[in-house]
Formats: sequence, C-alpha cells, structure tokens
Amino acid sequence: MSNSDGIHSHHHVALLPSSGMGHLIPFLRLAASLVHCHCQLTLITLDPVVSFAESQLISRFLSAFPQVTEKRFTLLPLDPATADCTDPFALHWETIRRSAHLLSPLISSLSSPLSLIITDIVLMSSVIPITANLCLPNYMLFTSSARMFSLLAYLPSIAVDHGSFQFGNVIEIPGIPPIPRSSLSPLLLNSNTLFAKIFSDNSQTISKVNGVLINTFEELEEQSLHTLTGAKVLEELPPVFAVGPLLPCEFEGQESPAALKWLEEQKEGSVVYVSFGSRTATSKEQIRELGMGLVLSGCKFLWVVKTKIVDKEEEDGLDEILGHDLMQRITSSNSGLVVKEWVNQWEILSHKAVGGFVSHCGWNSVVEAALYGVPLLAWPQRMFGDQRINVEVIEAIGLGLCVKSWKWGEDVVLKGEEIGDKIKDLMSSESLKLEAARISQEAKKAVGVDGSCQDTLKKLLQSWKKSE
Ligand code: UDP
Ligand code: UDP
Repeated sequence: MSNSDGIHSHHHVALLPSSGMGHLIPFLRLAASLVHCHCQLTLITLDPVVSFAESQLISRFLSAFPQVTEKRFTLLPLDPATADCTDPFALHWETIRRSAHLLSPLISSLSSPLSLIITDIVLMSSVIPITANLCLPNYMLFTSSARMFSLLAYLPSIAVDHGSFQFGNVIEIPGIPPIPRSSLSPLLLNSNTLFAKIFSDNSQTISKVNGVLINTFEELEEQSLHTLTGAKVLEELPPVFAVGPLLPCEFEGQESPAALKWLEEQKEGSVVYVSFGSRTATSKEQIRELGMGLVLSGCKFLWVVKTKIVDKEEEDGLDEILGHDLMQRITSSNSGLVVKEWVNQWEILSHKAVGGFVSHCGWNSVVEAALYGVPLLAWPQRMFGDQRINVEVIEAIGLGLCVKSWKWGEDVVLKGEEIGDKIKDLMSSESLKLEAARISQEAKKAVGVDGSCQDTLKKLLQSWKKSE
C-alpha cells in the first residue's frame, strides 16, 4: 500500500501540528506521504511538548527522515489561571495560540522560502493572521471526521445569543443527516469554556484557509464529503481534500513485542483489543468493572490500561490499579494480556488474531479500525469534542456497535456485566465482521495504486502549483 507513488513535487512545505498524539500522528503520516512525493519538508516542533509519547515519536520520525528539517517553536510560558482550563492538552493548545506571533520570525529565518504551511485545525485562527501577513498559503489538516468538519464549517450560520450558540435539539446541516444536540460536547454548549471559544474562533477563519485536508475517504464518509465538496455547508468553503486513510508508517514502530508475541498465540479473530487512545484517563472503579466485563465475556483480550491523561504522570503499577481479585481472575482464567505502556496500535489492529476493538472513537482509531477491518464497540466520552459525532459515522456505515445509554465520567461507572454482554455481541456478530471486511477492502483500494488517495494527493499538489 502506498498513497504517493510516482507523484512529484518540488514544494517546500512546513507542517505545524498541535499537541497530543491524536494530532501529531496524522501530521507525521501526511509528512511521510509528502516526503515520498519529493516535497522539501520543515517540521515545526513544539518546545515543550506535553507527553513522552510525542517527544519519542518526533525523534523516531526525524531519524527515519533525515532530509526533513526540524524547526523548534519555543512556546511562551502560560499562567494556567489565565486560560480557565485544566486539561493539559487543551491548555497547551492555548499556549501555542498565544505564542503564535513568534512564528513570524521563525518562518522568516528558514534558509529556503516556504511554498506553503499546513496547520492543525486547533491553531488556525491564531496562525492565519501571521501567514496572511507573510503572504504564505495556509492549508489546514483537520484531524477529525468530515462530519465533525461540517459542524465546524456550519457554526458561523448558527444564531448566537448573549455569547452562546443557539443549538436546537438537532443541528440541521444541509446535505448531511442532522446532528443531535446530545452528540455535542458539553464544552461546546457552554460558551464560557476554552474549547467553545477556540472552536468558534476557528470556525470563523475557515473561509480564509487555502484548502482543508481531512483524514477520511469516500466510502467512509460519502455523504459528508459530497456535501463539503459541493460547498453546500458554507458558501466560501475552501477546497476539501479527502487524503485518508493516512497510512501508518514503519517509523511509528516502537513495537510492542510482548503484545505481538501474545497475539501470535491466539486464534484468528478471537481477541478483543481495548484502548481509549492517548489522552483518556479511566478511573480505577471503571477499570475494575471493565476488567470484570472482559473476564465475563469469555473472550480473549488485549487491554491497554491508562489512569492519567498525560503519560508522564502514570505512577501506579498494574497490581495496584486492577486490584488483587481482578488480577487473580485474569491470571487464572488465562484470558488476556493487560499492558500499561504505549503500544503500537496499528500493528495490533492489523494482526489477524484481533477481531474487535472497544474504543473511545477518537478519529484516528476509527480510521485505523476501518483500514484493518476491525469492528468497533463504541464507548465515546461526551466531554471530548468529536467522539459522539464520530460514532454517528460508525453507525451509518455499520462498522460497529454503539450503545446510546453508555456514559463515561467521574460520576458514572458502567457495570462489568453490561460491558461483558456487549463484548460478546461484538465478537459474535457475523454481519459486523462482514461489513468491517468490506470497508477495509474499500480503504485498501483507496490507498492502492491509482486509488483515491493518490488521486487526491495529485490534485492537492496541482493546486499548490496554481497558487504559486
Ligand atoms: N495510539 C497508539 N498506542 C496507544 C494509544 C494510542 O498507537 O497506546 C495511537 C492510535 O493508534 C491513534 C492515536 O494514538 O493513532 C490516538 O488518536 P485517536 O484520535 O484515536 O484518539 P486520542 O488519543 O486523540 O483521543
Ligand atoms: N476541533 C475542531 N475545531 C477546533 C478545535 C477542535 O473541529 O477549533 C476538533 C478537532 O478536530 C479535534 C476534536 O475537535 O480532533 C476534538 O477535540 P478533543 O478535545 O477531543 O481533542 P483530541 O482528542 O482531538 O486531541
């Protein structure tokens, strides 16, 4: 599979990702494609980054691609009290946004002039004035679904009263199925939150962006993509390029030897993989119920446990987190492998032993599950911006099971029995397996020779030529 063979460009492109692995990973996958198209690349890296995982991935990427120039963007310190936010990643977004004026001298100091920059969505409104001033074309990489992008693009059309968006019970966006209010993050519904402010600022700048790249593909989000490319959501919508599925790359391979070795010993399609991404902390109570659910399901499982938002803060060992009883039950039933460290998720999802994925539905996880044909059991967190909207995409194409009543949060603990029952449903459904296999075939066609990815990349590079 390759999404860039035979396409050539001489452009000098800078990439500006935001914080968090869910943002860095798709940027670096895109970067690898652009290197293969012979673009000259400058990667703007944040100094500091939030997590170990980010610094390790950047090092591995730069070692794998020595032709890429790294330019460090040293951020100004931010007094957390001024940002009204406790999430370390969102706080870091704000730190970058408030340091954005420093990008101007950084860009001007590059030894060869840039043709364009590709900026993460969350930084857009603070970076656009700077690149406009430098007359530098600015493209956006949107790291979530096209459905989520439709919401962002439609936001300026929604009435505002006393600073709050007047969302009804459903948001009727022309051309796509309505988004129920219950799918929106409470952070977006409350105009005083940092997330709502950033989201709103960014939505206002979309028309000033030269083009929008989305990690999705036609068969995954046909209706949203038709609507966006037909410009039905917003009159001045810039061109939208569906560059997905962005392919996982070898450089990401901090292999997970124990997990892969264990998977080798399991029957085809028998293992349920459980992981809630790179920045979701799970309470000990919920972890223990989930563990009971996994044991009760009677399925083999590979489970990545995470108790803190930022990896640097993980302190407790597995024994302490799971508790003696659960540890005993897992060991004596010989049913699963539990890990607490970063695993190479795409390697796991692409392993033939894996037959299901219990996921929070971060968009990268959804696209990876689609690529490797692994049906999902969706357990989204409502507090985060896009997960429930991504679940609607999964439901619409039949890539997984979604339980509407499942909640996630400090005050809600979902019981093990209920989780176990749904895992059984997930792992025993022939129709889900067939549908996931069909979607995977389409995804692989998209990244194959003459597939839609190559075609879109070509169109993107042609559009850069025109903007010269
Ligand atoms: N990931 C991984 N190993 C882990 C946890 C996450 O490789 O232990 C990767 C996963 O494959 C995906 C990304 O990190 O590419 C997480 O992005 P996603 O959008 O799924 O969720 P987020 O972490 O942003 O909530
Ligand atoms: N997002 C957006 N506009 C913004 C900020 C964020 O559309 O101004 C999207 C972005 O694609 C992000 C998603 O909202 O992936 C969810 O944000 P979340 O807080 O869940 O962070 P993530 O898991 O992506 O790091």
